[in-house]
Amino acid sequence: MKAFDLSQKVALVTGGNGGIGLGIARGLAKAGAAVAVAGRNRQKLSAAAAELEGLGAKALAVACDVTDAAAVTAMVEETQARLGGPDILVNNAGTNIRKRPEDLTAEEWQQVMDANLTSAFLCAKACYPFMKQAGGGKILNNGSMLSIFGAPWSSAYGASKGGVVQLTRSLAAAWAADNIQVNCILPGWIDTDLTRLARREVDGLNDHVLKRTPAARWGRPEDFEGLAAFFAGPASDFVTGAALPVDGGFSISL
Ligand code: NDP
Repeated sequence: MKAFDLSQKVALVTGGNGGIGLGIARGLAKAGAAVAVAGRNRQKLSAAAAELEGLGAKALAVACDVTDAAAVTAMVEETQARLGGPDILVNNAGTNIRKRPEDLTAEEWQQVMDANLTSAFLCAKACYPFMKQAGGGKILNNGSMLSIFGAPWSSAYGASKGGVVQLTRSLAAAWAADNIQVNCILPGWIDTDLTRLARREVDGLNDHVLKRTPAARWGRPEDFEGLAAFFAGPASDFVTGAALPVDGGFSISL
């Protein structure tokens, strides 16, 4: 189906070497895109690129710390030089430091803001000239339920993820005239390395998630495959600035 066809397109997925990012990368690859995955862990990057090649896609592993502006520029230039594009940017890299606000240091606050919010701005800014020159592009940002809810152990994470939604809207408004659509997903509780750690650190989290989520299960990276093809392809050409919960109903239930 043409609306979901990404052949001839090049995608760059930050944090694409595991978890939700790899789920998104798989979806883009299956829809025909060439996919560059970026992150810091080189072993996981090589494994992810090999897996995407196994799906028949052109793939590239790019080592990059997205909190470093110079490294972000280099990552986008390497993707451009080796694959072309980028036509599609997925700002998925993210991290959390779970502490109450009174225990969180200013350095830890900054670390989370840099990884989750500033990185999205830097990556979008670095991709913009290529998208503008190509006559359009797609940017998909990864928010969270903590873009809309609060939690005692999540002040920096929640602030950064709330910021991701507002950054999405600002970029969408700024670049609509360039035919660049910018949207955001708000995942519920998804089973990944990040939340496996959270399940160890937060008492009763597993039971809470299962009880509170109407779908009565954790999400999986596979839940993001079709969604990625939608937000990266012509199907979403008139959708911009949106923030879509992908949460099995978590955000609509009491
Ligand atoms: P993972 O820990 O599996 O993925 C996090 C990814 O981000 C890794 O690929 C990691 O790669 C990358 N990353 C982190 N910091 C940096 C950095 N400084 N530079 C480059 N890459 C970085 O967890 P998830 O898949 O769960 O998380 C992916 C995104 O989804 C995050 O933004 C997270 O906040 C968001 N999210 C997750 C939810 C969940 O329930 N799992 C719910 C809501 C949102 P590497 O370590 O190699 O650098």
